[in-house]
Amino acid sequence: MTQLDLLWEYQLADTEADSMAHSIRQSPKRQKLLKLRDYIRDQQESLQTLENEVMAMMDRMDVLKDAISLADDQLKALQKRIQEEPASGSEGISMYIAEAAQLSGTLNDYDQEVRRVRKSASDRDRKQRDIKLRAIKSKEEFDALRVEYDQEYKEKSEVLERLKAAAEEKKKGIEPEYLARYTAIKQHCTPPMAKLINGQCGGCNMGFPSSVLASIRSGKQVECETCGRLIIG
Ligand SMILES: [Zn+2]
Repeated sequence: MTQLDLLWEYQLADTEADSMAHSIRQSPKRQKLLKLRDYIRDQQESLQTLENEVMAMMDRMDVLKDAISLADDQLKALQKRIQEEPASGSEGISMYIAEAAQLSGTLNDYDQEVRRVRKSASDRDRKQRDIKLRAIKSKEEFDALRVEYDQEYKEKSEVLERLKAAAEEKKKGIEPEYLARYTAIKQHCTPPMAKLINGQCGGCNMGFPSSVLASIRSGKQVECETCGRLIIG
């Protein structure tokens, strides 16, 4: 067997190990787990956002309570003033009326805002409960799938280890220079070797000029100019 033949045998074993590694990474169970993990993370973020909003609402309620009691005091003070210093003319009466209307308008605005904030807070409470329930369900689904996936991973990993060992075995007798070339090509092209088929590169179907064909047939190391693969005759 020539060096290229040995390298080709190695590629067969190496490709088999790679495709097992790929199948482990692409496992539908793994993809589903990743999706569930992202979903759970999103839910946690939503919960955090809701919590922050509820906190901000509670702060706003405190501010509103203070503002309402201040406006209440102002209204009481106005009533006292009206009793103690009744308006004499129509101008004075209009001034009292305008002041009272303004204060009661302010109180009314505050009151409406309190209702709005209360409603938003209870909407958010409901949302939080829904999200928490969904999160618990997702976590249960995740944990169950995790057990299945771990088992699958364990089995496939054992196969992968065997395939890797078999590929490693195939390296025996191959000169380091050939292996280095193989590894370098594999960085940008997989599989890194291609057969010569009808005078063309078996990897990309590009035709070779006759001088190159002669080199390939004589067993020299020739890389396809188009795809970069190492050609075996
Ligand atoms: Zn090619």
